[in-house]
Amino acid sequence: MKRRPFLGTLAASALPLVTDEDPSRPQAQSARAPTTITLLGTGTPHPSLERQSSSYLVETGGDTILLDHGTGSHHRLLESGHQAVDVTHVFFTHLHYDHCMDYARLVLQRWDQGADRIPDLDVYGPAPIRRMTDLLFGPDGVYGPDIRARIEHQSSIDTFAARGGTPPRKRPTPQVREIKAGDVVQGKSWKLTAGHAVHVQPYLECLAFRLDAEDGSLCYSGDSGATDSIVELARGCDILIHMNHLFSGTAPTPAFRDAVGHHKGNARAAQRAGVKTLVLVHAVPSIDQPRIRERIVHEIRQEFTGNVVWGHDLMQLTFRSPVIAAGGY
Ligand SMILES: [Zn+2]
Repeated sequence: MKRRPFLGTLAASALPLVTDEDPSRPQAQSARAPTTITLLGTGTPHPSLERQSSSYLVETGGDTILLDHGTGSHHRLLESGHQAVDVTHVFFTHLHYDHCMDYARLVLQRWDQGADRIPDLDVYGPAPIRRMTDLLFGPDGVYGPDIRARIEHQSSIDTFAARGGTPPRKRPTPQVREIKAGDVVQGKSWKLTAGHAVHVQPYLECLAFRLDAEDGSLCYSGDSGATDSIVELARGCDILIHMNHLFSGTAPTPAFRDAVGHHKGNARAAQRAGVKTLVLVHAVPSIDQPRIRERIVHEIRQEFTGNVVWGHDLMQLTFRSPVIAAGGY
């Protein structure tokens, strides 16, 4: 497969570059297979059986990458046919719980089932993701006593050995790197660029991500209004997954509108960025209803000439066939 030109420009990039190449990585997906994007969680903090909280699975170049891992999304990961041990990288846009609450499940199930036979999980996100990780999995962390019991009790040592591990068992040690807007992470055959999101600063740092693979490019807004920074980050992408939380004109305050955006703003941003497909996610129950959904998609099409997809959990997309699952409009 021919490499896209962006990879050739990396050496000249002035951006901070984090190299992430580990030849011992499990090859869950063929390096030549097309990139697959699975929407694991397209909902919000609102309790829902139909929509779990934010998480997106990207399989590309032999890596299995999660973008956010919010409440309930790990169950969707299992439903998609994957397990925690398959995941090689996780990137967090921000630390609202609906974007990171299943982080603990991911790390602990991966550690338990992996039995020291797989590489550490690579974790990226804004500060304080390192502190959160220490407070969850460190010796004095929330799961410290559980982790000690699983390392030291004979019954757990027996289980560990039955899974192929060789005692003594190591602690879970996710490899955490804190990132900020402008940082670039280089994988074997992909590049992830972090950009500015506009959401709930200064309380939480909030990022958006662009992932350039060999066969196409994806931008994920995280939680953000449709700002100039998102337009720049998404420019020319095949797929833009964008928060679509609010029906335009219904925000209770300007601060609310700015923090979550609105559907007409998303349309204008997608058109300015020149993306091919806009995938609408983070749908609250008040707009996730017949007639309102169709009106939103219709009005977006007045301003955006590409494909519009009303995302739902477990929808799969590729760069070649962005609208392949039931539920696409
Ligand atoms: Zn948020």
